[in-house]
Amino acid sequence: MVKKCILFILLFIVFVPLEKLFPIKKQKVFREQFKNDMVHFFMNQIFITVGIFIFVIPFFILSKFTSTVLAIKVSSQPQILQLFEGIIIAEFFGYWIHRLHHKVPFLWKLHAIHHSPKDLDWLAAVRVHPLNVILNRLFATIPLLFLGFSKESFGGAIIFIQFYSLFFHANINIRLHKLSYLIGTPELHRVHHSKDIEESNCNFGGLTPIFDQIFGTFKFPDQLPKEYGVEEDTPTTYIAQLKFPFQSKDK
Ligand SMILES: [Zn+2]
Ligand SMILES: [Zn+2]
Repeated sequence: MVKKCILFILLFIVFVPLEKLFPIKKQKVFREQFKNDMVHFFMNQIFITVGIFIFVIPFFILSKFTSTVLAIKVSSQPQILQLFEGIIIAEFFGYWIHRLHHKVPFLWKLHAIHHSPKDLDWLAAVRVHPLNVILNRLFATIPLLFLGFSKESFGGAIIFIQFYSLFFHANINIRLHKLSYLIGTPELHRVHHSKDIEESNCNFGGLTPIFDQIFGTFKFPDQLPKEYGVEEDTPTTYIAQLKFPFQSKDK
């Protein structure tokens, strides 16, 4: 918990001045649900760790008994190359699980929590239902395990993607122009958080939008979305947000 507090303070010190100096949209630092998102920041990891432990460990053990020629070749590569390949593979599976979260009704109820912020900033990145994160991680890590990637390389890939996600949601006016076709930017992800479903049905990628371009969901925005958020009436407290996907409409 102490480490988590230090990390929060460090991130606050890095992102808040950047968002104040170069904002894309005028908004308060302590905006609506700031405290609630802090609860996500401090609590989600507990659920995620338990979930990963229950679901990934059996696959981890199984992968030790199913080494293929390909897995042996992969694991004999230099760590840095494995890390790069790990990121690309995690991105590919991350792209598809994200699209599924927008397509399948139950998954959308999980993912709607992440789309519920009306103000987008670095901390909004962590408002994700823990089950949503567990599914993302399973989709990304199981293929990497069976392909023979080392724990260090895919662990590194996942930590990198997590930190990048904070930048990705930051309220910073940064434009990478043509580089946005190669690297995922806040500019691309903001459209994905539009309240307008037609507008938001794009840019499912994380670190890179290459899979959006390959599968036809890439959108280069020419303006800021009018509003962020979702049509659904999502709850505003942590426990209620955890329960939300499991409740029927009439509740
Ligand atoms: Zn989404
Ligand atoms: Zn997001």
